[in-house]
Order: sequence, then C-alpha cells, then structure tokens
Amino acid sequence: MTSLLRDLIAGNWKMNGTAAAIAEAKALAEALERQEPSARVALCPPATLVASMAGALAGSRVLVGGQDCHAEVQGAFTGDISAEMLSDAGARLVILGHSERRAYYGETDVAAAAKARAAIRAGLEPIICVGETLDERKAGDTLAVVTRQVRGSVPAEVSAVPFAVAYEPVWAIGTGLTPTLAEIEDVHLTIREVLAGLLGESGEATPILYGGSVKPSNAKEILAAREVGGALVGGASLKAEDFLAIIRAAG
Ligand code: PEP
Repeated sequence: MTSLLRDLIAGNWKMNGTAAAIAEAKALAEALERQEPSARVALCPPATLVASMAGALAGSRVLVGGQDCHAEVQGAFTGDISAEMLSDAGARLVILGHSERRAYYGETDVAAAAKARAAIRAGLEPIICVGETLDERKAGDTLAVVTRQVRGSVPAEVSAVPFAVAYEPVWAIGTGLTPTLAEIEDVHLTIREVLAGLLGESGEATPILYGGSVKPSNAKEILAAREVGGALVGGASLKAEDFLAIIRAAG
C-alpha cells in the first residue's frame, strides 16, 4: 500500500560541516522556493549547526533535524544533547538508532526506543533507523534482523505523532552499493507489516524511508519502489545540487 503521509527526503550531514556550510543549506532552500517539492525536506547537520541552520532556514521549506539525542531531559551526561535542547535550537526532527551510533557507541534497540520516547516528549519527529550488516544479509537473516530491530526500536508511543522508519542496510551506507529494487521492496514490505501489526493505522501510513548510497542517478527508481516513502541521504545531501536532484526525483 502507498503511504498516506507525505514522503520525506532527509539529509544526514553526519560529522561534516562548519559555519561556511550554511550557505549550501540556504542555496537548497532558495531553489526549493521555486520548485515546490511534493515531499517534505529536512537537513540534519552536526549539533553545532542546528541553531544557526534553523535560523537561516526559518520560513523556508527545509526542516532542520538532529542526528541523535539523549533519552533524559538534562543531567550529568557529558557531551550529550537532549531532545529538548535540539528542539530549543530549532530542530523539528531527529535521526535515531543510526547504524553508526549502533556500531561505534553500542546503541541498542532499547536505547533507540528510549530516545524515540524522548523525541516525542520534546515534540520532535523521530526517524528511527534499522538495517542489516553484510554478514547478516549473507546469512539470509535480513528480514529477521530488521523485524527484531523495528519491534525493539519503535515504541508504541509513536502511533500518536508523526514519525518515520528508515531502512538503511549497513553495507550500503557510504559504499556506493545498493540492494536491488526487489530486495528493497522485500524489506520495506516486511517493515510495513511489522509496523501495521504493532501500531495499527499509524503503522500502515507512516513513511518508510530508504537510505544507503542514494544519489541523483538512482533516486528516481528507488523512490518509485513499493512502500518506499522517501529517503535518508548521507553523502549526496552535502551538496545542494545533488540533494536537490534527489528531491526532484521524488516528484
Ligand atoms: C546515512 O548515513 O544515513 C546514509 C544513507 O549515507 P549515504 O547516503 O552516504 O550512504
């Protein structure tokens, strides 16, 4: 079935960008004023740029998001940022459970779900990431892994708010490799079934994004695949021109 909510194309800048990069975000927003995209558009810069980017893009079509948040509101958590702080800085969304957080910081499904509850508490739209490693795919475990991650990382509370799930095969992130369209559809259909079973109507309608080496040359066919309700874009979101081409591919 087709997503009832509008598609979302979100850019994940990861640990890239200093103040000078705000010009790239502004160029994107200016181009989108002329284009009227059908999808919602978001940029998730490093935390240091959230406030300045949100200020620079205020009133534009581009939403600003964080890349992670802590589950608590405040406290003795050196180096961390709460969902409330992101919201205070102008963020409207937050990426959670990204495979890089899972791999480098041992983030679990339970932690991702706690962070998603925090995002909801702060009025942020969570984008909850799931995806298998290459070993898991080779072992034929993709659907089981993704099912387990969705069940563990998506808390029931999301059914009351806008949220998205992003399917990001770990082996496709930053590698230039992508699954076949049939493989993408297979996983997205499974995620849809799991979400519908967990959340009912909200799970049937929420966008399921694909992420992993999306670029201008492959965006159109990926975004047209069944149950693909947008994209989470890393490298290709750093240049306004490339990100714009991906947004255009969404219609
Ligand atoms: C990501 O890290 O979320 C991602 C999809 O990266 P890339 O597009 O560079 O593969």
